[in-house]
Amino acid sequence: MSTLVAMAKQARHKKSGEDAEASGWDVAPGEALRVGTGFDVHDVDRGATPGWSRGRKDAERLLAAHADELSDLQERLFAEGRSGGSRSVLLVLQGMDTAGKGGIVRHVVGLVDPQGVQHRSFGVPTAEERAQHYLWRIRKALPDPGHIGVFDRSHYEDVLVVRVNELVPPEEWEPRYDEINAFEQEITDAGTTVVKVALLVSHDEQKARLTKRLERPDKFWKYKPADVDERAKWPAYQEAYQAMLDRTSTSTAPWHAIPADNKWFARLAVSELLLDVLRGLDLGWPEADFDVEAEKRRLAES
Ligand code: AMP
Ligand code: MG
Repeated sequence: MSTLVAMAKQARHKKSGEDAEASGWDVAPGEALRVGTGFDVHDVDRGATPGWSRGRKDAERLLAAHADELSDLQERLFAEGRSGGSRSVLLVLQGMDTAGKGGIVRHVVGLVDPQGVQHRSFGVPTAEERAQHYLWRIRKALPDPGHIGVFDRSHYEDVLVVRVNELVPPEEWEPRYDEINAFEQEITDAGTTVVKVALLVSHDEQKARLTKRLERPDKFWKYKPADVDERAKWPAYQEAYQAMLDRTSTSTAPWHAIPADNKWFARLAVSELLLDVLRGLDLGWPEADFDVEAEKRRLAES
């Protein structure tokens, strides 16, 4: 590496360190949570808060403080879409049952104007969906220009639940990793920034959360007896997550592994990742496509 490049890298690193500190993070969340080579899902302490040492109260305060900026950036994205822009953002949420996907939608995505959000959750494919390629229902649900799309589960189920339960033979799911990478490259090239979040809850915490669903009548609706069957396959699921994270964390669409036993941490972390991509889009306001002064005169005279 040339000295100049090395110096520039160092300066950038220092700057991102300083920015992180100013925001309350010890390490910028994008860096602390990104899945790189050598990542091992089994080593992740699901109760940890990587990059964050300030505790729950400060995290909740910071999440609340992000609301205005998130809203402002989302409105700019929406305005751009209305003015012919093609860009959008897609937040992909994966996690075992009870990992907190729904809570992210309510507490993080819920901070912005719902008219700019396109939310879709993916369950067991319908007969119509099963008759098609697995990406068919995914393509149909991609966000329109100017929108933030949110996938509660996604095409990754086709290498998770499908792999663990052998719903199709290995010859069929094995090529999907590369196919998904190509798919995400294609949609990125078309203007969609993909943000991928794996919420990693511990085996014990999942049990506690499922238990709560059985103890409270207002939570029964979230419980499915089949959840316990999937829980019994925990090691196979961890393996499937490992393969997914190894093979589909690309520079185009990297994965972020978020310890999810502390809901307050996962929510803050996802808000930071969303803010990062929205800030990175460098969103302005669209120019008027009319003569502002002439319109002021016309209005005054009306
Ligand atoms: P929930 O998100 O709790 O409503 O559950 C949705 C269920 O649908 C989960 O058990 C998923 O594993 C399952 N599911 C989602 N996508 C697929 C898929 N492509 N094939 C089979 N099952 C799926
Ligand atoms: Mg469920």
